[in-house]
Amino acid sequence: MHTYCLRRIIYGTLIVGAILGLGLSTVQAQPEAYSHPELRWFTIETEHFTINYHEGAERSAKVAAKIAEEIYKPITSLYRHDPGKVNIIIKDTDDYSNGGAYFFENKIEIWAPALEFNLRGQHNWLRNVITHEYTHIVTLTAAQKFGAQIPAAYLQIFGYEQVRRPDILYGFPNILVSYPIAGINVPFWLAEGVAQYQRPELRYDSWDTHRDMILRSLVLEKKLLDLDELSNFASKRGIDFEFTYNSGFALVRFLAERYGEEKLEALCKNFASPLTLNVHAALETTYGKPSTEISVSGKLTWSATIRHGLLAFWRTKLKESSLSSADMQIFIRFFRQMEPSCITSQILVQTLADTPS
Ligand SMILES: [Zn+2]
Repeated sequence: MHTYCLRRIIYGTLIVGAILGLGLSTVQAQPEAYSHPELRWFTIETEHFTINYHEGAERSAKVAAKIAEEIYKPITSLYRHDPGKVNIIIKDTDDYSNGGAYFFENKIEIWAPALEFNLRGQHNWLRNVITHEYTHIVTLTAAQKFGAQIPAAYLQIFGYEQVRRPDILYGFPNILVSYPIAGINVPFWLAEGVAQYQRPELRYDSWDTHRDMILRSLVLEKKLLDLDELSNFASKRGIDFEFTYNSGFALVRFLAERYGEEKLEALCKNFASPLTLNVHAALETTYGKPSTEISVSGKLTWSATIRHGLLAFWRTKLKESSLSSADMQIFIRFFRQMEPSCITSQILVQTLADTPS
């Protein structure tokens, strides 16, 4: 029979950041074709950025350098955080359009061809994407728990059987508890929400009719995602990805308008505490309310706005149509049969009730 003893438990915090950091530069080396060493590369140095670009992309690089310096102040002043010098790589090597923020490396990658994204309306590509990615860098470096060198930490507890013999250093392991603490735990909705929010006065990205259409559909179909569903991209497909961006933007706008834009700084920085283990804790610390209360009031606000808009729309339509009260009742009965739970039919009933006969 074995005896178990906790005297040999070793409490340890294993810092894996240095190991991972070393590994990233070697194990995850990118394929050569990705870096295009066959091209001649150049660098533009500005006060807060270095811009790397290849031959043929000089104009885009110069524009990017100008934009980056122009948006530096508005973004860093909102979050009162300077991430240090940021490297922007401009690529025009593929028939592809996108941007990426590598916030452990202070690096932004921009594909120069403009992205025409119908779900988010019109925008100036370079101005929007540089501001979007730079907001990621500023907010996510502000939210890092252990800095850029340490992506994660593990709290580990080991226990060993109490066997002592001259030829045995420790007994057989009988306890192993491992608790990982991620160095960054900002949920996707918030990361992408603030990156689209940027600063409204810049107008490089905005809440437009396309975004309104998506949110309206989610409200009317009762498909609004809750905070946990919005927190990751796992199990999402197709339009679900856009729902995360859309709802994240809507929620950040709601937070800024209801509680003040300046609170976004505190929200991001509250994630930097090792004790803030999830978004619910960060929201509660920042706004002094339970996270569910905040998300529910956001949903109610959107629903009320959308309901109000639809009501006004249908009232106008019905006035223009000069339908008689009897015609309207037939119309509503038909509509209800088609969509019994649809909010539109409820609005029509209310409209009918409000309409003087
Ligand atoms: Zn983004």
